[in-house]
Amino acid sequence: MNVHEYQGKEILAQYGVGIQRGVVATTTHEAVAAAKQLTEETGTGWHVIKAQVHAGGRGKGGGVKLAKSLDEVERISGEIIGMQLVTPQTTAEGKKVHQVLVAEDVYYPGDSEPKEFYISVLLNRASGKNMIMYSTEGGMDIETVAEETPELIFTEEIDPTVGLLGFQARNVAFNLGLSGAAFKGMVKFVASLYKAYVGADAALFEINPVLKTSDDKIIAVDAKVTLDDNALFRHPDFEAMRDVREENPTDVAAREVGLNYVALEGNVGCMVNGAGLAMATMDLIKQAGGEPANFLDVGGTADAARVEAAFRIILQDPSVKAILVNIFGGIVRCDRVAQGIVDAYKNMGDAIQIPIIVRLQGTNADIAKELIDSSGLEVQSAILFQEAADKVQAVLA
Ligand code: GDP
Ligand code: MN
Repeated sequence: MNVHEYQGKEILAQYGVGIQRGVVATTTHEAVAAAKQLTEETGTGWHVIKAQVHAGGRGKGGGVKLAKSLDEVERISGEIIGMQLVTPQTTAEGKKVHQVLVAEDVYYPGDSEPKEFYISVLLNRASGKNMIMYSTEGGMDIETVAEETPELIFTEEIDPTVGLLGFQARNVAFNLGLSGAAFKGMVKFVASLYKAYVGADAALFEINPVLKTSDDKIIAVDAKVTLDDNALFRHPDFEAMRDVREENPTDVAAREVGLNYVALEGNVGCMVNGAGLAMATMDLIKQAGGEPANFLDVGGTADAARVEAAFRIILQDPSVKAILVNIFGGIVRCDRVAQGIVDAYKNMGDAIQIPIIVRLQGTNADIAKELIDSSGLEVQSAILFQEAADKVQAVLA
């Protein structure tokens, strides 16, 4: 689950990470009130207005702007709230901005040497360790840095059972070229950031830029935070941070009915029980000359209601030209699933306008095939994997 910058910064602050302070606002009125409040708390008269959408590169798209007076706060927040923000990380259509973060300006006027760094914490799946990735080239697109000057990206691997060691945090500060108070500040910043990553069960904390001010404060100016969905049950308070407006509507619908669904780019919808079988089915579709339109694991209870929900979700994708249902009946009996498919199909009436190929294997597979073949519906059945693949190929041809 992704969260907004302002929510990511809230989490960071809870763990003692230095942040650029700000208040979220959904109207220009709230934005002006937020700016006044920040001026009282921090003394700054200048503010940055930052669009809150789940996409980076907002600065490039005009979603981050400096306001030097309350009038400018009002004008700029009015321009940004409600805009369709297009950034290098969004589609051409962009994302609608529902709220802005009004933040203290931390780039002091006349600061001759603000320094921007890049720091992220994430899991390195190859080594099975957590990793701090960092660079002196902050504020830029890190992919570009990785491509053009990979020697400017450093990593520190952390054994999750041991945790971050003191020398590792000092390595970061040293490699970023810091000394004195800034060095100490960076060591503390990195230690708290790592604590936040572990404590929040995050999958990613990406801070770009981390700012060093001329008076040696180390501050998170931006925060891209991805929380681990599988650990959300340990953080009931994070559920309130979910913004479904930012999520794919199909993903939201799938989550609501408890289906494990991932949209892909292809033309053949898949409905499968079990993640391993789902992967194998996707391979099969490719081999048959198609491209999987999704990964969908209906789980252990493939009854009519679930099958129907799964059909409806798959059919929301207009590029789907055929659906392959591949169910292995172990505990769940194939005839039950077949009945579920027949019921769901009848229930949905005209909603299904594309060929459906059903492959059921395992307990009562024969009865299941019979059920489907005699249903009079436009459903093709198969028992063997290859048979199903051939039928997919035939309907795509
Ligand atoms: P992103 O473009 O989505 O990555 O959004 P960021 O939060 O990283 O902001 C983009 C850029 O805006 C930063 O790289 C900074 O250069 C600039 N910026 C952010 N905060 C401030 C601020 O307080 N004052 C000034 N003058 N610029 C800022
Ligand atoms: Mn950024």
